[in-house]
Amino acid sequence: MNTRRFGAAAGTVVLALGLAACGDSGDSGAGDDKSIKIGIKFDQPGLGLKEGNSYSGFDVDVANYVAKELGKTDVQFVQAPSKQREDLIATDQVDLIFATYSITDERKAKVSFAGPYFIAGQDLLVAADSDITGPDDLDGKKLCSVTGSTSATNVQEKVPGVQLQEFDGYSKCAELVSKGQLDALTTDNTILAGYAAQEAYKGKLKVVGAPFSEERYGVGLKKGDTELCKQVNDALTKMVEDGSWDKAVENNFGPADFKVDESVNPPKLDECS
Ligand code: GLU
Repeated sequence: MNTRRFGAAAGTVVLALGLAACGDSGDSGAGDDKSIKIGIKFDQPGLGLKEGNSYSGFDVDVANYVAKELGKTDVQFVQAPSKQREDLIATDQVDLIFATYSITDERKAKVSFAGPYFIAGQDLLVAADSDITGPDDLDGKKLCSVTGSTSATNVQEKVPGVQLQEFDGYSKCAELVSKGQLDALTTDNTILAGYAAQEAYKGKLKVVGAPFSEERYGVGLKKGDTELCKQVNDALTKMVEDGSWDKAVENNFGPADFKVDESVNPPKLDECS
């Protein structure tokens, strides 16, 4: 089952003829009756990738499943770079975010989270012939990450002597590491596996494979919208129970040969608060 599915998922869901949402829906922040705006990444193969008008990746599959369960037939995907996620929710530019978005206490001060729906870990992407084996080898090295990410914050705390360059998206980092201009890219192992498997980087880049954090992916939503949080959690529970979560894992992480840590996945959901 090693077929490449990137690009296969349609951006618009036209499946559900939702029976649920009728009449005035002032109770939940998820758009009008049928449409929903969802923030995803656009440049992370295997997670959230935009190619022309099609969207693919694990986050996209989970988002489409949840949207359908919420009775939404018109999904509009919006780009949600790491540092803009809280603002996009707070200013109603998106209803939900599925964008490798780790649940943290700091973020919980501004937004609420459903989930988690996946647990990843921070790792390093380096040149295939690099001898970097973990954060301990990063002192004085040129490292790349993204503004507003837990990856950048964690690594700066762990290795104060690293020379960190931050961009808006990880794809730029992968490019610079592949050109030998930077020594490593740090972020979640899920994301790194997606880049390493790209045709352009095959044999040139490798994931170190020694995760040094726990990244619990939540579904970002308007702070305090407990009702929407519960609806999303119900959909996530159903997705695991009916086998769709497993399928999404296999379709999106299989091609990159990414091994999911089954001791923590699929994760137990947090309480909505
Ligand atoms: N999961 C981490 C975070 O939420 C890193 C990946 C990302 O920037 O989206 O910050």
